[in-house]
Amino acid sequence: MNTMVKYFLLLIITLGAGILHAQKNFEIRYLGNMGIAVSHNDSTILIDALHDFYESDYLQTDEQALKAILAKQAPYKKIIAIAVTHRHSDHFDSAVVTRVMNVHGSTLLVSGGQTMSLLSSDLQKKFTKVTDSLTIRINDRLKLHLYRIPHTYAARHAAVENYRVEITWNNFRLVHLGDADEKDEAIDLLKEKPGVMVVPSWYLSDKGTELLNKVKPGKILVTHISPADNALYKNEKLKSEVISFRKYGDILKL
Ligand SMILES: [Zn+2]
Repeated sequence: MNTMVKYFLLLIITLGAGILHAQKNFEIRYLGNMGIAVSHNDSTILIDALHDFYESDYLQTDEQALKAILAKQAPYKKIIAIAVTHRHSDHFDSAVVTRVMNVHGSTLLVSGGQTMSLLSSDLQKKFTKVTDSLTIRINDRLKLHLYRIPHTYAARHAAVENYRVEITWNNFRLVHLGDADEKDEAIDLLKEKPGVMVVPSWYLSDKGTELLNKVKPGKILVTHISPADNALYKNEKLKSEVISFRKYGDILKL
């Protein structure tokens, strides 16, 4: 083999390894109810992850996790964004978010106006507000997209603004539905085949299953399960792999 060919092969192997590396190394941690931390290398994005005690059926932000977040310990060294689907207390707590934002000063904080109104005027100045939909390009490898979809239980919560959160990070795509209703609008304009889709447990119904089979996610993460609930969340008609998150700190490695 001549030297040119050797160098060429080495270049191909290096590039190949780089691409493989870029696609791997994603970790998703369960932070209670619908809270997750999506980590890649030493950067993390939190979705619905900061909440306080609400009712005994719901997990509050774990003391140890909060300590690690405030001390900027791995995987919370660099929190790029805190995204919130909606204002309900099992998804968002203004005091906990304020404590975290006081330490992580340059973190992007994004949600709808209803969530924003629960924060101090100082923090509101740092807030990125979504109305209907918003795309945020954090850098050339990372994009966040929020899109308003109906909240479940319209009879009681029709006025609650709930946002679907989509992360596109290198070639990895994650979709988080928040407290979505099982309606066609929930998957409106959603590109098929995200790597992971985070759904509330009621999405294992037949209508939810029908919607998920249209989207065809690689993996479905079932969340919003009471810690005391031992029901098996599955639906035989579902075509994707299903993983249930119910224990605080559970990790999915991709
Ligand atoms: Zn809710």
